[in-house]
This record gives sequence, structure tokens and C-alpha cells, in this order.
Amino acid sequence: MNYTIFFTNQCNMDCTYCYECNKMVRSTSYDVLDGIVNFIVEKQRSCSDKTVSIVTHGGEPLIEFDKIQYFIKRLNEKVKNVQYIITTNATLLTDLMIDFLSQHYSEISVSIDGIQSAHDANRVFANKKGSYAVVVEKAKKLLEKRSDVKARMTINPQTASTLYESVKHLLDLGFTTIVPVIDTFCNDWTEKDMEILLDQGKLIIDYIKDYDKITNVGLINDALSKMANSPCNGGTSTFSIDTDGVIYPCVVTVGIPEFVVGTIKEGVNKEKVTEILGWDKIEITECIGCSRYNYCNTTRCRMINKVMCGSLHTPSAIVCSIENLKVKLSEYYLQRNIANL
Ligand code: SF4
Ligand code: SF4
Repeated sequence: MNYTIFFTNQCNMDCTYCYECNKMVRSTSYDVLDGIVNFIVEKQRSCSDKTVSIVTHGGEPLIEFDKIQYFIKRLNEKVKNVQYIITTNATLLTDLMIDFLSQHYSEISVSIDGIQSAHDANRVFANKKGSYAVVVEKAKKLLEKRSDVKARMTINPQTASTLYESVKHLLDLGFTTIVPVIDTFCNDWTEKDMEILLDQGKLIIDYIKDYDKITNVGLINDALSKMANSPCNGGTSTFSIDTDGVIYPCVVTVGIPEFVVGTIKEGVNKEKVTEILGWDKIEITECIGCSRYNYCNTTRCRMINKVMCGSLHTPSAIVCSIENLKVKLSEYYLQRNIANL
């Protein structure tokens, strides 16, 4: 069972591409956290899947570090073997936080976009000053404790041409897992940008081929490793719980009233979940015949389509471009690795 808990939507930064921090400021309360613990305990009691994964989400979640500590202590008293996951901008990390995350989290990601010019182009503090120097200093400290910390990069048209240099730079900093994420909420992507990303991805593949350490760089072989889409499980085994205890089927829908599937007090509304599960059954006519139909995000998650395009069954042009980019990169990856045998 997967739970994403929104501790706050506040942040000490003001990244240009942020979609979290332009809403009304809100943080969770200790009462809501107690309710979430009870909700999870009840859910776990009544389901056969005993695995529990918790994403502690923001804004910048570490703004609510005291509440995160409280929540984890309470939940661990009642549920065993919980896997905790966090993505942080790293700028607020203290030694105490580093120790706590290292001890309790199975997966830690730092948001860092690569070389300084790429990072500082978008990841800025409220005073518009770039955060690169602070993030690198803190990330290095974290990596000393946990060598498996991931680098989560956001790529937009402004930084696409530096992707290869940025990945190399992050490897030099000591990251072994790098997750480049293309900003799908940006409307400025062009076909030319996709060509640039393809060239940059090929350079990364060539570089990784001869790299002497074990690394895991996303995007370059995503299409190869991707499993066929499974049915949506939003509201059945995946829950995103907002700061006020309202439950949504997945992260992209949080804060949008039409997607609410319940509250921690009243539980999950089965009729709403049944409605959501039914959305999967309607074919996306524009995509029929595409070889990626059973793999693409737009045919997997109707809620993303609604949020991005205003309709459950309208594919997003940028998601389509990214899927095709991934296929081309995976073909090149295969070609280069076969050539290596
Ligand atoms: S650090 Fe994350 S939450 Fe904060 S402004 Fe940047 S993208 Fe948004
Ligand atoms: S969005 Fe594009 S890549 Fe995805 S299934 Fe539709 S046509 Fe294929």
C-alpha cells in the first residue's frame, strides 16, 4: 500500500517551474497526523498487502521536520516495516536531519538540476539567488552518510542542452542514481528541444557505456525497462493525503475537488473509487494503433490527462513526445550495449 502524505505546501525556495507553491499556503496539524496514522492502521488491518510505503511530501517537507519526526514515531509504534521515501531541496538540512533521514528513510532524493548554470537558472531562493552552492554542500554531507541518495533533476527547455554535462557533473559529485524528469507542465517544449534531448541522451549513453562505476541514470533506457501498464490503483492501494486529511487517488490530483475519494475521518468513498477505476476501461481513440499504447503514461493515467489537457481521454502532446523520445533513446541504448558485447 502506498501513501503520500502532504506535510506542507510551503517552501523556502521559489523555483521557476514549481507547481506546488503557487496555491494557498497550508501545513498539516498534529491532529491530522494522528488521524492519518489511524487511517493507515485501519487500512492495513483490512488488506492482504502488508507492505507500506510512505512518501513524505511538500512543498519542502523538511519545513515540517518536527511533524515528520512525530508522524514516523507514531506510525512505527503501530505498523511494522514501513518504507519511507522523501525528496528534498536539501537547503534546510542540518546534521540532525541528515542523521534522521539516514536512519529512517529507505529512499532519499535531492532535487538538483546539474551544473551550476542549469541549476541556478530555475532553482532559486525567494530573493531569486541561485541555490546551487548550498545544495551541493548539503548533498555532499548527505552522500557521506548515505551513498544511495538519488539526484532528481528537472529538465525544462532552458536546461535541455546541458543535460549531458549535468549528468556527468552529478556523477562527479558522487551520485550513483540520477533521475532526470522532463517538466511536462511546461508549455514551451518544441520539436527542436526534443531533438536536443535525444542528442544529449545519446551522449549520456555513450558516456555511461565506458563508465567504470555502477550507475543508474533514468530516461536513457526507461522505455526498455518499463513494464506494461497495470490498472489504476488510485483509491484502492494508492492514497495521497493532503494537509487537511482529504484523500485523493494520486499526487497530481491533490487539491482538485472533483477527484476527492474520501477523508481520514470518513474513510474512502467506494462509489467514487469505482467511478475512477471505470475511467481506465474507455479507450483513448487518438492513441489506438500506437505501439506504446500499453506502456505510455497518457494511456495509463487518465487523471494526468484531465489535469493537463482538461479531458480524461485526451492524450497530452508533451507526454507523447517524451514517450517517443524514450523509445528512441532505448533503441540507441540497446544498439550501443549490443555493440559492446
Ligand atoms: S524546492 Fe520544490 S517545492 Fe520548493 S519551490 Fe522548488 S520545486 Fe517547489
Ligand atoms: S500519447 Fe503518443 S506515445 Fe502515448 S500512446 Fe498515445 S500516441 Fe502513443
